Amino acid sequence: MKFRTRAIHVGSEPDPATGAVVTPIHLATTFIQPGAGTWGQFDYSRSGSPTRAAVERTLANLEGAAGALAFSSGMAATHCATMLLHSGDHVVAGCDIYGGTFRLLHKICNRAGIEVTLAPADQAEQIQSSMKPNTKMVWIESIGNPLMTIPDIPAIAEIAHRHGALLGVDSTFAPPAILRPLELGADIVMHSATKYLGGHSDCLAGVLAARDATLHKELYYVQNATGAVLGGLECFLLQRGIKTLELRMREQCNSALQIATWLESHPKVTRVLYPGLNSHPNHARAKQYMGNTFGAMISFEIDGDYAKTKQVCESTKLFGLAVSLGAVESLIEQPASMSHASYDAQAKAKFGITDSLIRISVGLEDPSDLIEDLDQAIYAAY
Ligand SMILES: *Cc1c(COP(=O)(O)O)cnc(C)c1O
Repeated sequence: MKFRTRAIHVGSEPDPATGAVVTPIHLATTFIQPGAGTWGQFDYSRSGSPTRAAVERTLANLEGAAGALAFSSGMAATHCATMLLHSGDHVVAGCDIYGGTFRLLHKICNRAGIEVTLAPADQAEQIQSSMKPNTKMVWIESIGNPLMTIPDIPAIAEIAHRHGALLGVDSTFAPPAILRPLELGADIVMHSATKYLGGHSDCLAGVLAARDATLHKELYYVQNATGAVLGGLECFLLQRGIKTLELRMREQCNSALQIATWLESHPKVTRVLYPGLNSHPNHARAKQYMGNTFGAMISFEIDGDYAKTKQVCESTKLFGLAVSLGAVESLIEQPASMSHASYDAQAKAKFGITDSLIRISVGLEDPSDLIEDLDQAIYAAY
């Protein structure tokens, strides 16, 4: 079956008890056992629940994974993956990883004696030269933020595996409707399902999907032991969001390409970073991985300083001024003052986060309305 069909039917089979066509929201925390010392399919909801099992089945199927796990947030999912590591292990992570992941690695994992080296994920040779004998994990994002770089996932998987390390890919910006990192050699794929998978800004959730059953079992062991599972209501919302994932992505990607193309010809716009444009340094790789759907995140620079850029971001009427991404509502932000405000001047310069950079998350509104809104916001600053 095709992706769209699986997104609707796998894990959403009619309820055998009632015939209900949507998975019931099970809130029970405990389940009657067939006998003392004998276990049914479910016993206690931290260890598993029918609603969670259903959405995990959908996710595993869509990622091409042996198994998937649903967490209470994206960070809980990433944390679970890092808990596979032991004191003295080393991680190589992309240097443009999500700020929360940076904090987790440098302020929490370090307490357990885990060492971290950052390297530009879009340069596989730099990942290679950062590997050490004790490197046990490589962690990258499938689309870099905010410059939208695309790493060579198969090459990095090969480097990781040659060193006996796992490759984990945070694919929040590129959900399985457009990119499946496990098919490209990754061992673990992670999502902040808060973004595209949920898709409606109403469900905080995280996902890990593992390529093989042994790894899935190890991750499940950690999840059950530490407890950051997704609740029943959120499992239902996530399942509902996933049913329209492909449709939403296709529309959002089409709108993003249209908006990026328009921005590139705008007299006040000096640079557009979108993997779907010929001008993007990783366009060929993006095409190879994602076909004609290049995601719905765009960064661009305007011909202006920090204040003008801030003014553009504050002048939109449809685009909401907010971090986060991936929902039906379009959002706009200034990385220098918002998502990447914690970076010092040197780090900003190194990662190309200029004062005039703007990042947008293209939602599901009519693209012509979005273009009109951006145009009036840009001119409001001139
Ligand atoms: C939002 C986000 C996360 C963190 O997910 P939460 O659901 O907010 O915990 C991780 N990685 C990326 C790329 C994100 O955008």
